[in-house]
Amino acid sequence: MSAKYEYYKPRTLEDAWRLLAEAPQARLIAGGTDLLVRLKKRVLAPPGALVSLRSIPELAAIEARGAMLRLGALASAARLASDPEVTAALPALARAAQWLGGAQIRNVATLGGNIANASPAADLVPPLLVYEARVEVRSAKERREVPLSDFFRGPGETCLRPGEILTAVLVPRPAEGARSGYLRKGRVRMDLALAGVAALVERRDDVCSRARLAACAVAPVPLRLRRAEAQLEGERLTSEAIERAAAAAAAEVSPIDDVRTSAEYRRVLVQVFVRRLLA
Ligand SMILES: Cc1cc2nc3c(=O)[nH]c(=O)nc-3n(C[C@H](O)[C@H](O)[C@H](O)COP(=O)(O)OP(=O)(O)OC[C@H]3O[C@@H](n4cnc5c(N)ncnc54)[C@H](O)[C@@H]3O)c2cc1C
Repeated sequence: MSAKYEYYKPRTLEDAWRLLAEAPQARLIAGGTDLLVRLKKRVLAPPGALVSLRSIPELAAIEARGAMLRLGALASAARLASDPEVTAALPALARAAQWLGGAQIRNVATLGGNIANASPAADLVPPLLVYEARVEVRSAKERREVPLSDFFRGPGETCLRPGEILTAVLVPRPAEGARSGYLRKGRVRMDLALAGVAALVERRDDVCSRARLAACAVAPVPLRLRRAEAQLEGERLTSEAIERAAAAAAAEVSPIDDVRTSAEYRRVLVQVFVRRLLA
């Protein structure tokens, strides 16, 4: 027998918070591409009620605010892949969005859902980690900003408290001349990543002044590769320095064997992606 849920479609954040307060067992739903699959597979207990965010217009905006881009939680992967501001300023994020699922999934899958679902394999997260994004979280009473690197607690677990909604992602514009990219591999074109790596590099006089590396699908949560970053900062980007960083990256991830592939192969992918991105 299929489970039945109440389905609410508030038009304001205030109404969404009220519904969450009235039905503490309710779950938020955005695109539903993660949530509905998990409900159907009965990985999640029936929530009693679903509160859709899709009719709250303020969650959908992508805005340039001076030195920062504010990406609304409801921005779809398709929009992130093609928005002129995002493709120009945050190419690694646009590239990850282009690779997420197939066209139908990209049209409904949202940025907020990709982050809040807290999958170790979430493709949009490594680029946002190298851009040092912060997550805007709001409840009826409070607004807080959390560095994305502190947002995840474990697979499927975040620092979101009851009644809180991830409303936007705040991304500082990379410095002029910064270069960034994202590489990932699935078993087939439309598959979760076996591993994904994002990189951002700034150079001054041929020396790497800032390096940011992050990976997904190779640890319980998407993570920064800080030891690999440390191999690069203050160094010229020679093939030796790149090789040291790639080896450090492969050593600091903690991948698992699963149905998709082996831990060993995931480590190799991280090493190869770091090398290719830096080269
Ligand atoms: C066929 C298929 C292919 C896929 N391919 C990929 C892929 O290549 N890469 C990848 O990363 N993912 C992939 N996914 C997973 C999924 O599409 C993405 O993670 C997507 O971004 C989730 O967004 P959503 O809006 O659909 O989230 P939903 O399913 O609506 O929500 C996911 C979770 O986040 C919570 N949530 C959603 N929005 C908010 C919010 N604003 N505030 C607080 N909590 C919130 C929900 O309560 C739920 O727990 C795929 C899924 C399918 C079905």
